[in-house]
Amino acid sequence: MNDTPMFSRLALIGFGLIGGSIARAARAQGLVGEIVATARSAATRSRVQELGIVDRVVESNAEAVKDADLVILCIPVGACGAATEEIAASLKPGAIVSDVGSVKAAVVRAMAEHLPANVHFVPAHPVAGTEDSGPDSGFAELFINRWCILTPPDGTDADAVEKLAAFWRAIGANVEVMTPEHHDLVLAVTSHLPHLIAYTIVSTADELEDVTRSEVLKFSAGGFRDFTRIAASDPTMWRDVFLNNKDAVLEMLGEFQEDLSKLTRAIRRGDGETLFDHFTRTRAIRRGIVEIGQDDAAPDFGRKQPQLAKKA
Ligand code: NAP
Repeated sequence: MNDTPMFSRLALIGFGLIGGSIARAARAQGLVGEIVATARSAATRSRVQELGIVDRVVESNAEAVKDADLVILCIPVGACGAATEEIAASLKPGAIVSDVGSVKAAVVRAMAEHLPANVHFVPAHPVAGTEDSGPDSGFAELFINRWCILTPPDGTDADAVEKLAAFWRAIGANVEVMTPEHHDLVLAVTSHLPHLIAYTIVSTADELEDVTRSEVLKFSAGGFRDFTRIAASDPTMWRDVFLNNKDAVLEMLGEFQEDLSKLTRAIRRGDGETLFDHFTRTRAIRRGIVEIGQDDAAPDFGRKQPQLAKKA
């Protein structure tokens, strides 16, 4: 617990998985004096009030940011430009304004054009999440040992960047700084493309004629169910990701299609050596992820295995 809060007032615009997790974690670590939150719908605002995690729930974005020294937009990337326009005139001079959007270049452009010169703009993306959304889905531990990428525009005050980095570190994240364009390319391959593939496979399986839907569900432990977790992610968030990271996603999709063609050819030709070599390389990648602590080594993602009944 910190005795002196890092920020006197934190304003959260949007309160779903990410906003709710930031609020819970910042509260648990005593990082902020006061948390003011708002959300688009009356239903979410009323639920946030009931949850009792924040000090005040207000009705508008402009009201939320008044006197806040840290403002974080936790809304879909496609909504960040309009929300920034709404808050611009009410921001406290010297405030740090940030976001959590999964795409950076387009969002940074959309927000920057509305921000006054007397605030510090430090865009961020915590690379952490689940397939759940809404005010009840957040939890304080979400960011522990996950990366948070900051993409400050050239010339951003270094102290402001360090202050936001310290905030993210205090709620468990590791911080890295890069350009928005590089972020978008990296995330296109590590996150956006896998989501697109999962969305595709799940709908392909659903549309098959010779295999029934009940068979797809019944035999899903063969691999399909692991894709369904990703494909259950929030449709609004992911629509906005693909609309706003179009170029990088299309570039990675081109690479993916080439690799898929190579494997298709190997299968068609009965080229076992190519398949074996390919799968050996990918297995090493999985082991590398476990080695750097980005996943658990437990088999089958640590799912609890049912036990056989003991013989009497
Ligand atoms: P979420 O749980 O669905 O919450 C979204 C919040 O944004 C809600 O408060 C919602 O308000 C509000 N909202 C939705 N559409 C809006 C609009 N058009 N204008 C203003 N507010 C709107 O979403 P989340 O998972 O926290 O995602 C929020 C941001 O975090 C996104 O930019 C996403 O890219 C980023 N992110 C997500 C993950 C993840 O895994 N989920 C990971 C890292 C970063 P109502 O409830 O009132 O509708």
